[in-house]
Amino acid sequence: MSVATAAPDRRSPSGLCERSPTRPVGDSDGATRAPLRIAMLAPPWIPVPPSGYGGVESVVSVLTEALVDRGHAVTLLCAPGSRSGARVLALLDESHPDEIERSLYESDHVSRAFAEIDRGTPEFDIVHDHCGFTALAMADRLDVPLVHTLHGPFTTATATFYAHHGHKAGLVGISRAQWASAPPGLEPVDVIANPIETDAWPLREHKADYLLWIGRMVAEKGPHRAIAAALGAGVPLVLAGVIQPGQQAFFDSEVAPHIDGDRVRFVGEVTGFVKRSLFAGARALLVPIRWEEPFGMVMVEALACGTPVIAFPEGAAHELVVDATTGFLVNDVPAMSAAVDRLSQIAPRECRAWVAAHCDADVVAAAYERAYRSVAAVCGARDFARV
Ligand code: UDP
Repeated sequence: MSVATAAPDRRSPSGLCERSPTRPVGDSDGATRAPLRIAMLAPPWIPVPPSGYGGVESVVSVLTEALVDRGHAVTLLCAPGSRSGARVLALLDESHPDEIERSLYESDHVSRAFAEIDRGTPEFDIVHDHCGFTALAMADRLDVPLVHTLHGPFTTATATFYAHHGHKAGLVGISRAQWASAPPGLEPVDVIANPIETDAWPLREHKADYLLWIGRMVAEKGPHRAIAAALGAGVPLVLAGVIQPGQQAFFDSEVAPHIDGDRVRFVGEVTGFVKRSLFAGARALLVPIRWEEPFGMVMVEALACGTPVIAFPEGAAHELVVDATTGFLVNDVPAMSAAVDRLSQIAPRECRAWVAAHCDADVVAAAYERAYRSVAAVCGARDFARV
């Protein structure tokens, strides 16, 4: 996922860009407290923010900027090429977009991050880890307490991992649906939505005549079902997305035969202004998913533009699609086609207002602030592991 927002002026290229906290921070409860010193640990794969597809990196970017804006001292430990208003510290010599999840790079990146944190200059109150599994597994080796956001679903393998290591950090989930398949007894410090910089997305109230599907070209995301639903509704469909390694066969057999440049158009990977305009102009975003989607950033991006979402009732769609307010939850393709006729019931401004209230970067940063303070209050990760 990529929000491709315009970089604030103060962002510097990779390198050091100190921004010490000098003013007290007004927390969401109205109390004034000392700014937090936060080590934000991004993955080593893609620079922050990502130029195209890059879900976790986009979340890290939006959250980091919001925390800096709230007056905290954030050091972003990340892939080279990253830009931020925080102090930027690239750990490896190059990024690794084609080696995602290769432990060689993840363990190298995390061990260098831990060495920086252990050095104690600057000191940190909290480490916020978005970086796969290594940092959580080793969190009890750090003196600084760690908050770990789970970005993926619980599978049999990851549930076993979290059952074993989850007590070493404060865990944050991204939806209640995600947490529903957590191993017994594993509790999050909080469930916090992924952030969006609402103002960076255009609200468009008068829509063009097309439906949109955008995402990864995999069966569980349902581009082929979106095609069937749009054809059934008699409304043109625009498909956007990247065909990642391993997805070509699915695209060739299930999607490509229906592309006619008229009723079904495929525009490939989109970013920046083109992506935001596509979201804003659509009558609705179709999300015919068949998997326990832990969040679904495209739904939030559509809503920010005042574009309703018609989704299957799976995973976090239950939380992001408020039936008849931000869109419709439907059970199958014919019901998705039929829901297109009801789109006039949805007010674009309500869609945007809902996102601003629940997922805006500042709301999310305030929730993380509370999570950081509650975990930091437990002294340190070694102590956290003993609680
Ligand atoms: N995306 C993009 N360009 C594309 C297709 C998708 O930038 O052509 C972004 C999209 O805007 C969203 C992300 O990719 O921010 C997909 O995130 P989501 O959580 O919906 O799905 P995931 O792929 O992480 O399961």
